[in-house]
Amino acid sequence: MNSQLQTIESALQQAEAEARRYAAMPARFDIISMELEIQTEDGRQMLCGSPLDWTCTCAFYGEWGTCSHVMAADIVFPHQKNKRESI
Ligand SMILES: [Zn+2]
Repeated sequence: MNSQLQTIESALQQAEAEARRYAAMPARFDIISMELEIQTEDGRQMLCGSPLDWTCTCAFYGEWGTCSHVMAADIVFPHQKNKRESI
């Protein structure tokens, strides 16, 4: 077998083994930034930020600093928030 091909295969196998090791430890992952779109009865609503700090574009959020969309996102993506609060 071509030795360069063997090197590539073993490098990929090593990377896969490492990936499984990381994936088994979700606490190592931090979502830094994401955009979230929620389909609401009134249309689409956009959230920006991360599970630790959502910002919404709706008028209610502008007035109150939170809204049903942010609250819903906190319920759907509880992982990181719980992680930080438990430290
Ligand atoms: Zn909102």
